Amino acid sequence: MKLFPILIAALSPALCSPAHAWDAVPQKVADSVYVFVGDTGPRTATNEGMNATTGFVVTPAGVVVIDSGSSKHVAAKIEAAVRQITAQPIRYVINTGGQDHRWLGNGHFADQGIPVIASEKTAADIATRGGTWADGMAKRLGPAFAGTRVQGPTRRFATRKTLTLGGESIELIFAGGGHTPGDIIVWLPRQRVAFAGDLVFMDRLLGILPVSSVPHWLASFDALAALRPALVVPGHGTPAPLAKADKETRDYLARLRAHMKKAVDAGEDMQAAIATFDDKDFAYLPIYTELRGQNANRAYLDAETE
Ligand SMILES: [Zn+2]
Repeated sequence: MKLFPILIAALSPALCSPAHAWDAVPQKVADSVYVFVGDTGPRTATNEGMNATTGFVVTPAGVVVIDSGSSKHVAAKIEAAVRQITAQPIRYVINTGGQDHRWLGNGHFADQGIPVIASEKTAADIATRGGTWADGMAKRLGPAFAGTRVQGPTRRFATRKTLTLGGESIELIFAGGGHTPGDIIVWLPRQRVAFAGDLVFMDRLLGILPVSSVPHWLASFDALAALRPALVVPGHGTPAPLAKADKETRDYLARLRAHMKKAVDAGEDMQAAIATFDDKDFAYLPIYTELRGQNANRAYLDAETE
């Protein structure tokens, strides 16, 4: 397989800020399951780009880290946080998707010989867009990004893969992606916990990217719901029952898709379609004002190609 190691050299000291770092305090949400809940605002130097939720699973035969974080430095903090909980070695690292904070810490773990696993689509996504994500994070983090490189997954799978470790089953499910092309669900059947990565945003408005697909995202959400999880760990926000994910992610996407599809079918132009989309039920969510326009724009473009 191909790897794409690109050293990130150009760091601007002018962008360095004396920040309070991302604190990397793990919260236990189920037996053997821990999460790091990041800010729900934008990526900043202060939060080290970790405006995201990630986590890890401890088994009697080792630890599985779910998402490697936004830099080598953050990956090292994840490893240190795991050490506070268990002496078990980290056996696997999973990238739930192709967005920066899911995988920019990969090099830290790959350098220790720890397998990094993602979907084929995420591997391709990192190969294509990884450098752009890394450049953006380098500008934001300045010297705190030092030592970070673009490192894709060292193992990949197409649609499903089950890791069996210390008696635990950890199921990796690709159901079409959505926010990014390779987004997966990490399903823990014993605890009935689903790490949904960027397929679920809670406590803030979700962001539709140029590479997102609203129909694929909704299909992936259906696959998540079909698991009947007791708890959903979102890609952004605090873990909560499925009903909250349904309201703050699926319902928003479904309404947006239906509105834009109807507009496209009626030959309505984009500006008119955006102006008539009623999203005020989601106005309580942080970053609503910043993202609602671009989301509507991208959903319209998606509807045109459906
Ligand atoms: Zn994200």
